[in-house]
Amino acid sequence: MGLLTGKKALIFGIANNKSIAYGIAKKFKEEGAELAVSYAGEKLESRVVPIAEELGAKLCVPCDVTCDEDIAKAFGIIAKDFGNIDILVHSIAFAPGEALKGRYIDTARDAFKLSMDISAYSLVALCKAAEPIMNEWGSVINMSYYGAEKVVTNYNLMGVAKAALECSTRYLACDLGEKKVRINSISAGPIKTLAASGIGGFKNILAHIEERSPLHQNVTIEDVGDTAAFLASDLSKTITGETLHVDCGYNVVGI
Ligand code: NAP
Repeated sequence: MGLLTGKKALIFGIANNKSIAYGIAKKFKEEGAELAVSYAGEKLESRVVPIAEELGAKLCVPCDVTCDEDIAKAFGIIAKDFGNIDILVHSIAFAPGEALKGRYIDTARDAFKLSMDISAYSLVALCKAAEPIMNEWGSVINMSYYGAEKVVTNYNLMGVAKAALECSTRYLACDLGEKKVRINSISAGPIKTLAASGIGGFKNILAHIEERSPLHQNVTIEDVGDTAAFLASDLSKTITGETLHVDCGYNVVGI
């Protein structure tokens, strides 16, 4: 019996097999969960559907999280064809490339709105849509980064969006807690993915973590998957509203 046997997980944010959401989905499958996955839109269908098949997902639905109608439509299909869920994974973020380099002070209003919408507000919207089909003792997991807490060169606007995401997690913990549903953020160390490739000087960040983190290495999508499985399981039943660092200890280091 796996840690997640008998549980149903809905996962947002698989773009390819390097995605953090892919590492999470793979681990969930190994631990016995039934999977449904959602992808950003029709242009990604040819890339995501084969991955969903490889993972044995029962359902694969398109959903652009900036669009309320898309969210309502996707959750209608999920409720009908997949049923109630125990786990919701939000592994979604976006900021325009020009907002991920140079001076934060130069951030444009449109870039700010779009990034906050996709990277932070979408968590609120997905929780609201999932609430009616979430089983008691359900678990919501989202993905954050250290740039929410401290200044990380070039992370800029995304750091501000992640701070909003982590704070939303605390407020959502109180709302969802009334229904005995939990929500936590995983603050993952840097990993080379599609989203990360947009961040200026990303290679230097990876090298810095290897040199300075207590464990002197970087994390993998498998490491994040392991922690996500713990947070999705009954082993973490009384943990909610937390930001859990999966970063080889980097966040505890000062001078
Ligand atoms: P990724 O593979 O590029 O995943 C990002 C996902 O967000 C993609 O599936 C992307 O779909 C989706 N997305 C963007 N806009 C969307 C929209 N409007 N509607 C629905 N989905 C949308 O990169 P990743 O690194 O695994 O990122 C996953 C999460 O982990 C993000 O929240 C990221 O900030 C966080 N994180 C990453 C790192 C890291 O170093 N990689 C570290 C800590 C936290 P499209 O491909 O269609 O845009």
